[in-house]
Amino acid sequence: MKIAIYPGTFDPITNGHIDIIERALIIFDKVIVAISVDSPKKPLFTVDERMDMIKEAAKYNSKVEVDSFNGLLVKYARKVNATAIIRGLRAVSDFEYEFQMALMNRRLNEKIETVFLMPNEKYTYLNSSLIKEISSLGGDVTDFVPENVKIKLTNKQILHKDNT
Ligand code: ADP
Repeated sequence: MKIAIYPGTFDPITNGHIDIIERALIIFDKVIVAISVDSPKKPLFTVDERMDMIKEAAKYNSKVEVDSFNGLLVKYARKVNATAIIRGLRAVSDFEYEFQMALMNRRLNEKIETVFLMPNEKYTYLNSSLIKEISSLGGDVTDFVPENVKIKLTNKQILHKDNT
C-alpha cells in the first residue's frame, strides 16, 4: 500500500488543499493529512479544530486520514510508513522555499520522496491567510472553502468580536 503524507498548517483547510488531496489519491492508496504542531505561524484555529474541519471536509473519502505531528517531518513519515511527502505548488513564489525543504528532507532521509502537485488554476491564488482576512472583513468565502469551514470561520469572527 502506497502511503503519502500531506503536511501543513491547514489554518483552515481550503478548496486548494482539497484539490491537492484529490490529485494525490490518483497516485497513492492513502493520504495522511498531517498538521504540523510546531509550525512557526500563529494559527487562528487550534490543532483539534483544524483536524475536525479536515475530517469533516474529507469524510466522503475513506482513503484520507487526518493526524498531527511534532518534530521532524521525515521521522513522522517513517513512523506512519509513508514513502512520499505531498506539497502543493501554486506559483513560482512557492518554489524556492519548497525546493529547499524537499532537498533538506531528502538529505535527512533519502528514502522519502517529495512529490509536488499543481492545483486547478482557479485555486492558484488561494491561501489560508487570505481566506481568514476576507472572512474577517465580512467577505464571502463560499467558493474557496468547504461549507463546514465557512461556518467555523463565521463563528470565530463572532466570538472574536464578542471578546473585543
Ligand atoms: P505550510 O504552512 O506548510 O505552507 P499550508 O497549510 O499553508 O501549510 O499549506 C500546505 C501545503 O498546501 C503547502 O504545500 C502549500 O503550498 C499547499 N497549498 C496551500 N494552498 C494551496 C492551494 N490553494 N493550491 C495548492 N496548494 C496549496
